[in-house]
Amino acid sequence: MDSADYWDEAEPDECECLCGGDEFAAAVGFSLRPDGEVRWVSLGLRCLTDGALGVHADWKINYGPSAHLVNRA
Ligand SMILES: [Zn+2]
Repeated sequence: MDSADYWDEAEPDECECLCGGDEFAAAVGFSLRPDGEVRWVSLGLRCLTDGALGVHADWKINYGPSAHLVNRA
């Protein structure tokens, strides 16, 4: 089993709030380096049923230029 298979199987649980809701509003945040390039991107999902902040992810941007990611958000 490779990592892609693992994520396919894990997704249903990861995308469901503790209240059972499965609809979310996504919020994306950026952490910028002094030169304006994006260093980190954070993804948060807020449950539309009870407002709880649920699934989130952070990943590092290791390529550039990346400032366009902010401009598109
Ligand atoms: Zn919820």
